[in-house]
Amino acid sequence: MDSKIWLSSPHMSGSEQSYIQTAFDTNWIAPLGPNVNGFESDIQNYLSDNSFVSALSSGTAALHLALIILDVKQGDEVICQSKTFSASANPIVYQGATPVFIDSEEETWSMSPELLEEAINDRIKKGKKPKAIIAVHLYGMPYKVEEIHNIAKAYNIPVIEDSAESLGSTYKGKKCGTFGDIAILSFNGNKIITTSGGGALVTKNEEWRQKATFLATQARENAVEYHHKSIGYNYRMSNILAGIGRGQMKVIDERVKARRKNHDTYKSEFKDIKELTFLNEPKDAFSNRWLSCILTPSEEVREGIRLRLLEDNIESRPLWKPMHLQPVFKSCPSYINGVSDDLFEKGLCLPSGSNLTENEINRVISAIKTYFRA
Ligand SMILES: *Cc1c(COP(=O)(O)O)cnc(C)c1O
Repeated sequence: MDSKIWLSSPHMSGSEQSYIQTAFDTNWIAPLGPNVNGFESDIQNYLSDNSFVSALSSGTAALHLALIILDVKQGDEVICQSKTFSASANPIVYQGATPVFIDSEEETWSMSPELLEEAINDRIKKGKKPKAIIAVHLYGMPYKVEEIHNIAKAYNIPVIEDSAESLGSTYKGKKCGTFGDIAILSFNGNKIITTSGGGALVTKNEEWRQKATFLATQARENAVEYHHKSIGYNYRMSNILAGIGRGQMKVIDERVKARRKNHDTYKSEFKDIKELTFLNEPKDAFSNRWLSCILTPSEEVREGIRLRLLEDNIESRPLWKPMHLQPVFKSCPSYINGVSDDLFEKGLCLPSGSNLTENEINRVISAIKTYFRA
């Protein structure tokens, strides 16, 4: 059997270990230290645009703290894109609030501005104005930033920009992660760069950044006897893992290039297979192509391709199962137009790692071509 080809596996640059070694040499084996500060400034410099960064234990933790900072409480409603990974929605429930799910539009696969506005009006009519909006740049493709943020502004609702999949993507030349009142990043093992596990909260509001870091370190007031006036969390990033992050930030541009190249290769290799289509970049959008996805004509074809790939020891995965179809969220309000259901039925994520070898990507391509020849 040929070796396993994963959907998106970690890709180290080689320089990570020197940062980890320094942490050991100086005994900064803790959820604070020079690598944490250094990693935060690396990200700040990369995003620029006056962003402040708090390095955390995960993207999920960053979302949770974002909701707390925006004062989301028991009984509140928070709007959330339905087509996403469950981690976008779970922290709403941690706060005792209710997610209100919004379907996608076809140009970006992310939140539909029309449905967003319809939902806001309907929730207000029902007596509850949403406390926040969580919008996701799905698979690295920027959502309709201008439309979504204009609506949010018109109704004076803050936006949490879930940029977990889109570090390195841009909209009108500006980096994803700089658009939200608060944005979040993820450095989980499958993301475009990784610290094995980790995340960050990004905001232009320096007080909010300080508050995130404060809450992430058990809400310890500035007193020697550990004085507490609020409930805290243990969400800070480890100085060891931040060392991995520092090494990864050196190669972020190369990682984006490699993932975009995978996508271009698939697209050109499959150009004669009429059954397969891709998500093109709309005007103004530059995607990091975190995952390369294909759309097939039906669930049957999608499954056929997936199983054919599995026979050759190649991992692939249907596009995220929408949150409004998840049993755990079945009682939540949702505003649905059928787009995300259709994408879920027909879409498949192909191996997309920046470390895919030519031989590996050729194995994927030839398995899919064989499926259509059979
Ligand atoms: C990965 C991911 C998260 C969660 O990040 P973790 O670091 O794994 O907690 C949140 N939202 C989206 C869209 C993701 O893909």
